[in-house]
Amino acid sequence: MSLEQKRILLTPLPGPESAKLQDRRVEVVSAGVGTMLPIFITEAHGAILKDADGNQLIDMGSGIGVVTIGHTNPQLVEAVQNQVAKLTHTLFTVAPYEAYVRAAELLTQAAPGSHKKKAAFFNSGAEAVENAVKIARKATGRTEIAVFDHAYHGRTNLTMAMNFKAHPYGTGFGPLAGSVHHAPMSYPYRDPEGMSGEEAATRAINYLEKRVGASQLAAVFIEPIQGEGGFIVPAPGFLATLDSWCKANGIVMVADEVQSGMARTGAWFASSWEEGYDPDLLTVAKGIAGGMPLSGVVGRAEIMDAAHAGGLGGTFGGSPTAVAAGVAVMEQYASGNWFARALEIGEILKTRLNELQMSYPIIGDVRGKGAMQAIELVIPQTQTPNPDATTELMKHCHQNGVVILNAGTYNNVIRFLPPLVITDELLHEALDVLAAGLAKIS
Ligand SMILES: *Cc1c(COP(=O)(O)O)cnc(C)c1O
Repeated sequence: MSLEQKRILLTPLPGPESAKLQDRRVEVVSAGVGTMLPIFITEAHGAILKDADGNQLIDMGSGIGVVTIGHTNPQLVEAVQNQVAKLTHTLFTVAPYEAYVRAAELLTQAAPGSHKKKAAFFNSGAEAVENAVKIARKATGRTEIAVFDHAYHGRTNLTMAMNFKAHPYGTGFGPLAGSVHHAPMSYPYRDPEGMSGEEAATRAINYLEKRVGASQLAAVFIEPIQGEGGFIVPAPGFLATLDSWCKANGIVMVADEVQSGMARTGAWFASSWEEGYDPDLLTVAKGIAGGMPLSGVVGRAEIMDAAHAGGLGGTFGGSPTAVAAGVAVMEQYASGNWFARALEIGEILKTRLNELQMSYPIIGDVRGKGAMQAIELVIPQTQTPNPDATTELMKHCHQNGVVILNAGTYNNVIRFLPPLVITDELLHEALDVLAAGLAKIS
């Protein structure tokens, strides 16, 4: 459980062992499960991934914001090993166990607001979102759901309908679920110059009132910072204005914090950065359990209790090992300096990315919060998306042992989600590789 925190390249990437594994893989693994980089990982620790050829890569993506706490975090590994040797499964709805309750205690304390909160656990982010839809519908007696342009909520049938991008998430997989309505998002980089958060919210509210009717809406789902959509941070005032409208109309406000939550932005939840924003429910997954499959819905007790007994659950949801991992992660966030570290990482990223933007006008926008930062690539002097340059830049980083991820409706965003245990030195080294890539493609 230790690995020198150093980038080491012994072979070209992918190396020969990875290539052999890739040959085996394509024979037996569905082509529908794509892979961004065909480098097979054998072990990982902190912010370093080691591959089958002995190469060591800097992880700037955390498996899409999952290992926020770092790879093979020692407390988490110990908690999982202890738990798995004692009790692997009962099904909480058959016979309960304490770790589930402890995880719910930690999550309800972490969620914003001083009102009474309750939680329930599931396996994946999409499953948490689906359950939040069920809960909101039961609590309100209404059916309709509002989501936003550029949103991403998952890959199940219902969440696929809630995503903005048809391809690759939905094309050919229909019919999609009904009663889902897509409203315009606040996207400061692409909205009319100077449009405020309040104005963008009014645009969305007008649309929903005409198209759906406030009285028909069970819930509004929004990512306080959009993940797959390209780390779009809505203009200040957008979330709070929407929230007031929801409260005035009996609509459940759901913050999908699957990507932005759990210390990523320098707070438990990105929702807390917007003054006057008070979501009724929050969905969590990715960063909550360091890679063990755990997700949850947390929020107002009276809404969470609206579902009848037996209405929520699932065989594996909140399994003993998953909740033990969740407890190990949340206890560290509750007691350590993790939020401060996320903000520090954010400062380093922002400073260097802003500097790069001065030299390379291909960077149209730098945005994000804490350790959730992104650059949007455009044709210089325009706002035209530049997906080709994005692909090239990604390739350069991957070939040089830096794992970065793309995002964005227009496939022109590079997002940075490093584990919070990354050293300043490694972070700068990864950014040096990125800078060399920008010099090469510009
Ligand atoms: C990843 C993601 C999901 C889906 O989570 P899965 O665990 O992949 O099902 C939902 N919402 C947001 C905001 C996400 O980033």
